[in-house]
Amino acid sequence: MCGIVGYIGFRDAFPILIKGLKRLEYRGYDSAGIALNNGNIKVYKCKGKVSDLESFIGNDDISGHVGMGHTRWATHGVPNDINAHPHKSQNGHFTLIHNGIIENYAELRKKLSNRGYSFKSETDSEVLANLIEYIYLKGNVTPEIAIRLALTKVEGAYGLVIMANKQPDTLFAARKGSPLVIGVGEDEYFLASDATPIVEYTKSVIYLNDNDVAIIKKDELVLKNIKNDTLTPKVQKLDLDIGQIDKNGFDHFMIKEIYEQPKAISDTFRGRVSATHDITLGGLYDILPKLENARRILIIGCGTSWHAGMVGEYLIEELARIPVEVEYASEFRYRKPVIYKDDIVIAISQSGETADTLAAIKMAKEAGTTVLGICNVVGSSIPRETDGGVYTHAGPEIGVASTKAFTAQVTVLTMIAILLGKRRGSIDNYLYKELIDGLISLPNKIEEVLKHNNVIKEISSHIKDAPNCLYLGRGYLFPVALEGALKLKEISYIHAEGYPAAEMKHGPIALIDEKMPVVVIATKDSSYEKIVSNIQEVKARKGVVLAIVTQGDTVIKNMADYVIEIPEIPEQLAALLTVIPLQLLSYHIAIMRGCNVDQPRNLAKSVTVE
Ligand code: GLU
Repeated sequence: MCGIVGYIGFRDAFPILIKGLKRLEYRGYDSAGIALNNGNIKVYKCKGKVSDLESFIGNDDISGHVGMGHTRWATHGVPNDINAHPHKSQNGHFTLIHNGIIENYAELRKKLSNRGYSFKSETDSEVLANLIEYIYLKGNVTPEIAIRLALTKVEGAYGLVIMANKQPDTLFAARKGSPLVIGVGEDEYFLASDATPIVEYTKSVIYLNDNDVAIIKKDELVLKNIKNDTLTPKVQKLDLDIGQIDKNGFDHFMIKEIYEQPKAISDTFRGRVSATHDITLGGLYDILPKLENARRILIIGCGTSWHAGMVGEYLIEELARIPVEVEYASEFRYRKPVIYKDDIVIAISQSGETADTLAAIKMAKEAGTTVLGICNVVGSSIPRETDGGVYTHAGPEIGVASTKAFTAQVTVLTMIAILLGKRRGSIDNYLYKELIDGLISLPNKIEEVLKHNNVIKEISSHIKDAPNCLYLGRGYLFPVALEGALKLKEISYIHAEGYPAAEMKHGPIALIDEKMPVVVIATKDSSYEKIVSNIQEVKARKGVVLAIVTQGDTVIKNMADYVIEIPEIPEQLAALLTVIPLQLLSYHIAIMRGCNVDQPRNLAKSVTVE
């Protein structure tokens, strides 16, 4: 969680830090702070957004060529001025910003208290600042040694940037479990949680690995691990353009990203699916024989990625006839699951940094299982932990509510399922071709759906004041119902539930009355007749029905209060199309309710803490 940015070089650090924090604000936004080192370390921090921090600093002297900034997503201690980062150690020798959780902070805090330390904040991070200082003073060692020794005593996850009062020309950075990228310039270095604050200055980057410690001066970078072994930094070229991280004229990142889906999907299948009906997935090349003979596939993810995984389950079971189970990573890692060596685990995460998913991967690997990743952020932790995988090429997703990452993940799962079906001979040639042609036609069909934006906006005005909302779907459209409900909850704060339409009778039907909007995803597929009956059941109880239907459907049009039409598509691909109006619906409702859609309360983009 949280965004970290740092700079050391010849430029003024402050503008780089503020701009970087604004780029990273999607990762956490309950407070923000910066530290500048101009011989002595100045800290500015306050509750609220980066813009609040700017007003707080006002016209103060913010000169300095060394600095670091933080935008927080609180784990320990409420969002307030004191708990905001950076944190100074008691005697001011060290100042740090931290992303992650120090799990043994309570024990360390107690020990330090017994040795005379007191704490200003409630955070785990301040404990680490004091631990480093304690070791530094007690052991009379260099700042670098104190930092490394302190990190050997810490359990949990961290991305850290640290300043030492006695070494104003140096930034220290360390990583375990929380991402940190170093941008390499000429006589300057940049640091950030992801590459978005760095890309306009340099495309040469170093991704820190777990247990790395970097000691950075403006013209020198020394990389070590916490055990003091010297490492050779691996400089990589960044595949990211500045245009990809701007709003490009849209009011919000979320709506920009919804509109980017035709491109995100075609970028995801480009070079992988050919018009001559071949599928090539380079990242699976070595693993395909194992995958195709898997005893079972376990798909793990969290939130929207878990919903994508459910679509994947339905696809792989239908097309490839391999048993699939979809698991929440947070449950899987703690519930002692049975894992066979000839299972294959597919881990899905947009950021590639999701803490629970990473831990579940490690557990699966310990059980001797092959693990594949489906991630969007190139070079992130999950692709580095897995045996193979497929990147989604959706481009940076900055809106906290995931949209294009979901459709890109489902696109990848669709390609995997079709490919496995072909190799296992479990899909007939006609369907195989139909699905590939269907995938290729998707970007145009999504453009068609996006044209209904104004209609969807109009419908949103009738739903925006509802306290609750029910989403129903069957088959491939059930995970879409879950995803639609999640989108609404996340950004509009309306309570919403997704249900398999037939399950409605086992409980939720009791909630239906004339105040209850029911969104039914009811395109023409093999369960069409059944869902029509479900709509009748809702209408018989005076529920307000918004139905997503196939173009030209007149049956449902006559029953529902509102309809949104989408082009015809094979049912195996329908999730990719039907989710688009639901994303737009939640966007418009949230805007009408005055919510901040890009930065919904209490949420952050990537959940890098448990
Ligand atoms: N655990 C730290 C805190 O609560 C850091 C949280 C973050 O990653 O933003 O302040």
